[in-house]
Amino acid sequence: MFRAILELIVTIVIAMAARAILASVMKGFSNASRAGFDQRGPDPSAKSAPKERVSVAGELHKDPVCGTYVAESTSYKRGAGRETFYYCSEACKDKHAVTARS
Ligand SMILES: [Zn+2]
Repeated sequence: MFRAILELIVTIVIAMAARAILASVMKGFSNASRAGFDQRGPDPSAKSAPKERVSVAGELHKDPVCGTYVAESTSYKRGAGRETFYYCSEACKDKHAVTARS
């Protein structure tokens, strides 16, 4: 019984010693690598980069002239009856207006 306790204590001491050695080694290792990182400064890519803004401008509508998808917030749009057409450019708007009339 006593021997078992002794073995347990020895095991714990060895484990603690091993951990202490490992920790000091790791600490020195991380300090060395941290010094290298500090020279580069904080990683700019780690900061929250702006995510995709597809849905921010509202729904996408297909330009009937060239087929480009344009945001609902575009200034190139034209209401035709119940429908509203969205264009990628003034040129497409004019072109569609001409073809719609003819
Ligand atoms: Zn277009």
